Amino acid sequence: MRLPKFEYFEPKQISEAVSILQNEPAAKILAGGTDLLVNMKHRVERPPVLVNIKRLGDLDFIRQDNGDVRMGALTPLKRLYMTPLVMENLPGLAQAASSVGSYHHQVMGTLAGNICQQNRCMYFNQSQWWRSSRPTCFKAGGEICHVLNKKKTCYSTYCGDMAPALLVMNARIAITGPGGSRELPIEDLFSEDGKTPLRLNQAEILTEIIIPAESVTGICRYQKFANRDSIDFPIVGTAFWASEQKKEYRIAFTAVDRKPLRAQRVEAFLKGKKLDKITITEASGLAAGEAKPVKTSVYSPANKRRMMGLLFQRVVDDAKRRSIK
Ligand SMILES: Cc1cc2nc3c(=O)[nH]c(=O)nc-3n(C[C@H](O)[C@H](O)[C@H](O)COP(=O)(O)OP(=O)(O)OC[C@H]3O[C@@H](n4cnc5c(N)ncnc54)[C@H](O)[C@@H]3O)c2cc1C
Ligand code: SF4
Repeated sequence: MRLPKFEYFEPKQISEAVSILQNEPAAKILAGGTDLLVNMKHRVERPPVLVNIKRLGDLDFIRQDNGDVRMGALTPLKRLYMTPLVMENLPGLAQAASSVGSYHHQVMGTLAGNICQQNRCMYFNQSQWWRSSRPTCFKAGGEICHVLNKKKTCYSTYCGDMAPALLVMNARIAITGPGGSRELPIEDLFSEDGKTPLRLNQAEILTEIIIPAESVTGICRYQKFANRDSIDFPIVGTAFWASEQKKEYRIAFTAVDRKPLRAQRVEAFLKGKKLDKITITEASGLAAGEAKPVKTSVYSPANKRRMMGLLFQRVVDDAKRRSIK
């Protein structure tokens, strides 16, 4: 499959990248290209201009600063599970990175590219030829949804592996745009809209991901169900964070809704409790009801909910094996 025609820029400074993006509202940022270029080949994204940010050298770093772990937007996923600082202090992040797609995606794919990836749906992530047998759906620019055609809404699913691990660690993200720089909790980046899944203003670039020191002291694990061990997006993915001392727990899911989700009811139920067998079994029942998945993949919503409960038990067991009593 060939790429459509586009104009191409390789800015060396962030300010230059922002001004190119500002001049062409339909331009897109290109990082590793492992998500965007595939969508362009399928003709579901057709930006007239690509701004390759890989030459912005100062966005590829992992360092610790006053206890916080700071990671540049262009950090390759592979680096996350090869860097002792991450492997020792943020093992859930290393697990999530090593579970993304294939080795090639982990070498080429970047942390910010993973966070900012497009939502997915079996009627959208298809070649132009495959899609031509049906009317074009909302997300691809048409007037219909083939999944739920009740409201004019796109229900495509967020399937990124890194976001849940970052959500449970209360990560913050730094963004630079025409109005300067701002920082926000990663949770606020995601909208409820499958058509425009990110709340980024025009010409804004995600530059940095920050894990607060408080989260570095807890334990974080990530588990995923996928069709095959290599190459596949999650059917369901779950991250778990625990502070043994405070008996505080955080849980997040991916691939079950339009955005990655914190499992707030499970978190409230577990707070202050010891993670014994009865508590975990009860919590896994709650976990299964934390989202209302719709059929955007070959897996039925009921199947996904069952997997949420099972995966929750698996990720807690994994964390317990490592440290929680
Ligand atoms: C076969 C296959 C399997 C895959 N499996 C998985 C999987 O298991 N798990 C998973 O999570 N992903 C998977 N992916 C998707 C993709 O490979 C990864 O998400 C990858 O990390 C994307 O990073 P990238 O740097 O290549 O992003 P790109 O493709 O360069 O960009 C992705 C999106 O993010 C935007 N973007 C990139 N950087 C920034 C930035 N700094 N600021 C603002 N916006 C930005 C781009 O404009 C684009 O819209 C798979 C892809 C394929 C083709
Ligand atoms: S949920 Fe509906 S509108 Fe969204 S991508 Fe799927 S078919 Fe298209």
